[in-house]
Amino acid sequence: MSVLEEIPLSGPDVDQSDIDAVVAVLRSPQLSLGPRVPEFEAAIARYVGATHAIAINSGTSGLHLVNLALGLGPGDEVVTTPFSFVASSNSVLFVGATPVFADIDPQTWDLDPSAAAAAVTPRTRALLPVHVFGRACPMPQYLEIAKQHQLVVIEDSCEALGTRLGNRLAGTFGTAGLFAFYPNKQMTTGEGGIVVTEDGELAEVMRSLRNQGRGADGSWLAHERLGFNFRLPDILCALGTSQLRRIEQFVARRQQVFELYNQHLSGLEELSLPAAVPSDQRTSWFVYVVALREQFGRERRDAVLTELKRRGIGCRNYFAPIHLQPFYRDRFGLKEGMFPVTESVAARTIALPFFNQLSSSQVERVAQALREALAVTRPTRV
Ligand SMILES: *Cc1c(COP(=O)(O)O)cnc(C)c1O
Repeated sequence: MSVLEEIPLSGPDVDQSDIDAVVAVLRSPQLSLGPRVPEFEAAIARYVGATHAIAINSGTSGLHLVNLALGLGPGDEVVTTPFSFVASSNSVLFVGATPVFADIDPQTWDLDPSAAAAAVTPRTRALLPVHVFGRACPMPQYLEIAKQHQLVVIEDSCEALGTRLGNRLAGTFGTAGLFAFYPNKQMTTGEGGIVVTEDGELAEVMRSLRNQGRGADGSWLAHERLGFNFRLPDILCALGTSQLRRIEQFVARRQQVFELYNQHLSGLEELSLPAAVPSDQRTSWFVYVVALREQFGRERRDAVLTELKRRGIGCRNYFAPIHLQPFYRDRFGLKEGMFPVTESVAARTIALPFFNQLSSSQVERVAQALREALAVTRPTRV
């Protein structure tokens, strides 16, 4: 049997300029709290079109900071999606507030605005939508609901750096927007994240909270509030600034890979390919996710994943519904059947290898493996 090279699910795009940028910081005396932090923040703010940017050590820390800085706490409800990475709703739990889930749109897999509106109660303080897999979610509709009920909007754009909706980039619609830089995202700092906002007061509170509650002057042993160490060091900020210089190339390359997949998989009738993107949007794709059609269930999907892995193809069931994670079930009495669209989609998704350097022959190999996986798992007709 020939041994084929494995194709991973994701991979960072690091070049010599990134390495040089990091090494330059390592040769300097200032590895943290130095000049590379505001430089990275300014570069991100300029790119997305925001006034303030606050770099932090992960997207999760950023979500936590936003919830804290907005003063959310016990008794407050935040309406969000169960079809996301767990950090989005966990951030609500971190501050003692309650995530209230609403189901998703069956085509785009984003928080369904009408379901979100129906989940609003007198205790609701915020909406927390997520641009799932990089696809722009309908921010204007959420903003309308927010206006009606006087809510803030926390925009989880951790999967959507570079996504455009109309003439604005994702992350700039909400009271605060989040980006994350784990190595599987569009660009990386190893670990890291950034919050963007137009609200100067909110920005100042978040700067203090990420840095041990220190005041704006950074005075070392003066702490104005209970703070954290959520800082992103200069080493990683330099990597971020360097990566950001190529973000438009990254977005374009990912679009090419996305289209290659669409071509190679278009004949497979057991699959739904990603829904078309409206012409007033640009998607900065985070992952490439297909779904088995609705007549198939989790068993078949899991068998396909197993067969793909046997053929050396990295793959995953993006996402598992958050409301069915054990600590959400236990704490809030959530169970199967409560968010049927999320559950149906989550039982059928298959994320395929997706990264900038993926070659067209590798895409072909993935497509062939998927064809085989579908064939060997096909229910036999009687
Ligand atoms: C990646 C991601 C985050 C943040 O992740 P970190 O690993 O903490 O940087 C938050 N929300 C979503 C939807 C994500 O995909």
